[in-house]
Amino acid sequence: MKCTQCGCKRFIESAFSNLISVGGWDVSCSISKTVKIFACLECGHLEFFDKMMPDKLAQAETKLKRLDDELNSLLQDKESKDSLINELTEEITRIEERLKNLDITVREQNELSEKSQQINNEIQQILQARRPIDKRIQEIAKNKEAADLEVQKLRNLCVGE
Ligand SMILES: [Zn+2]
Repeated sequence: MKCTQCGCKRFIESAFSNLISVGGWDVSCSISKTVKIFACLECGHLEFFDKMMPDKLAQAETKLKRLDDELNSLLQDKESKDSLINELTEEITRIEERLKNLDITVREQNELSEKSQQINNEIQQILQARRPIDKRIQEIAKNKEAADLEVQKLRNLCVGE
């Protein structure tokens, strides 16, 4: 560290309470424990450091990124399940068309009905598996909104961006 006033490199760490006295009265002042103050031994210039805000911003950004990643993978999962449901629904439609054909035998009719029922069960299973995914997506959307606001708030406090 180098003094921004005189260029001297010798500093002494000081406490905020040592710096303040008003009209002879000691002022007991509460200041964040994360604040560090250094006094230049040459000219007395004070340097203040507080890692809390940068750490907070980094944490908020990490959290937002994690939520984004989870949301993207859930959306992909949901999408693949949705397209599978669409395919299966189309297959049922095709089977129903074939069932309308008056020329098919009773045996074929039974087979097709059974197949249709199987596909229906499959669709129900996929829908059931999709439910917790939908729920988590909603949860994340809500958390993401809060994390977004936090990051924005902290970024707005940054000067000179
Ligand atoms: Zn100095």
